[in-house]
Amino acid sequence: IPVDDFDLVIFGGTGDLARRKILPGLYRRYCSGQMPDQARIIGAARGDHDADEFRSMVRDAIKEFSKKNDCDDDKIEAFLKQLDFVSIDARGDKGWPELKGLMRDGVVKAFYFSVAPSLFGDIAERLHLNEIADAQSRIVVEKPFGRDLESAKALNKDLAKHFEETQIYRIDHYLGKETVQNLMAIRFGNILFEPLWNSQYVDHIQITVAETVGVGGRGEYYDKSGAMRDMVQNHLMQLLCLIAMEPPARFEPDSVRDEKLKVIRALEPVDPHHIVRGQYAATESEADYRTDAGDPRSRTESYVALRAMISNWRWAGTPFYLRTGKKLKARTSEIAVVFKDAPHSIFGPDAGRHRNILSIRVQPNEGITMQVTIKEPGPGGMRLIDVPLDMTFAEALGEEAEDIPDAYERLIMDVIRGNQTLFMRGDEVEAAWAWTDPIIQGWELRNDVPKPYDVGSSGPEDALMMMHRDGRRWREIK
Ligand code: NAD
Repeated sequence: IPVDDFDLVIFGGTGDLARRKILPGLYRRYCSGQMPDQARIIGAARGDHDADEFRSMVRDAIKEFSKKNDCDDDKIEAFLKQLDFVSIDARGDKGWPELKGLMRDGVVKAFYFSVAPSLFGDIAERLHLNEIADAQSRIVVEKPFGRDLESAKALNKDLAKHFEETQIYRIDHYLGKETVQNLMAIRFGNILFEPLWNSQYVDHIQITVAETVGVGGRGEYYDKSGAMRDMVQNHLMQLLCLIAMEPPARFEPDSVRDEKLKVIRALEPVDPHHIVRGQYAATESEADYRTDAGDPRSRTESYVALRAMISNWRWAGTPFYLRTGKKLKARTSEIAVVFKDAPHSIFGPDAGRHRNILSIRVQPNEGITMQVTIKEPGPGGMRLIDVPLDMTFAEALGEEAEDIPDAYERLIMDVIRGNQTLFMRGDEVEAAWAWTDPIIQGWELRNDVPKPYDVGSSGPEDALMMMHRDGRRWREIK
């Protein structure tokens, strides 16, 4: 179904994120027929490019970053006709009158801030001063939304000078992922899971976001941030919220976001014995984190594992183990709900320990698996084994799985539709920083040195020990 006609301005339209995700994503939506023929995408960035140069850059980006079979030359050319460009200075006067001249009345106006957060306030102000944005316009802001509570509050304040909260779309692209939304469908669309979804039946929950890549060319940026700010404060906490929240009354922006906020506010401060930070060490063939980051004395973490506890009626006593890191064994994002043992084994002690585990794989091979215990086939008596009830989207949906929109595509269309459900509200972001700030400040005060871990491993030994002390085990990263 096509969305309403729109003008979408991408500030930072020539940047890395725009080229890798935003523009190829919009092209896919165009191909699926969701983008109206008159809709326009206007790149706005530094540099004296003209519209044709911008189109040519977008053509290359689509070819480089889209799936091969998406690239039909005629379609690309037709899509490019809907593009325009304005050379603009976010901090000066250049380009603003031209941008105003390009905008149409009577269509949805959306402004994507795909630039450094230090420019958010400047752009918001100039959109207002030049009367380009109006009370119906929407703005989309990228991460990082601040680096602590104070800076996040300042950003919120800057944006609030010119835009209402209902106009601000703070992106966390994890929320746009298909399986993440499926998590809500599974929880609230089935009667099967919700009665068991509490500390009485759930032993613990593990949320893992493992990457195989290092900091790449973003070393300098990453080194000022680290895994806690770059991944835990946003993506992992958002996943935790969706797992832990109470059922919202409706699948509507504020119903969902109110429930997520309650989870964040119920988080206990993290016990220092239940947090491990790590930094990848050199191997014969690969450099260590410090070399990649360009600082031989860096104490920034490329890995974090921690135990979060939620003080509320549903979850008191159930640990949520979160971990994320770079240069690990495999690239995987998984949420695993590990249920408690059955209260009594009628099969005797020899039957071993068997547990139900609901695993939600966010990437790659998006899908959901429920580990169940069955009898091992054959005449060998009552031997028990664990098998997966597997729903891999690619298998279950066949060709349709190919059409699952990428997170960015979906989220941008939600902006045009005016649906904020999958975007973070200002108070949510602030509450998340309020929880992570004392952890980070503690490290800074103590001059904490991250524990080294091998490239290609599952993380530092201390993280294994942390779980071991709790009598549990991390899921294998695979
Ligand atoms: P980038 O450095 O590749 O691009 C920056 C863009 O901003 C360019 O188009 C540049 O022309 C424009 N720009 C810079 N200063 C400007 C000014 N004064 N006036 C007008 N335009 C100006 O950055 P990026 O990697 O595309 O990241 C953009 C934003 O998205 C950042 O906030 C970043 O943290 C965030 N982000 C990036 C990624 C990623 O994978 N690249 C992922 C998540 C979030």
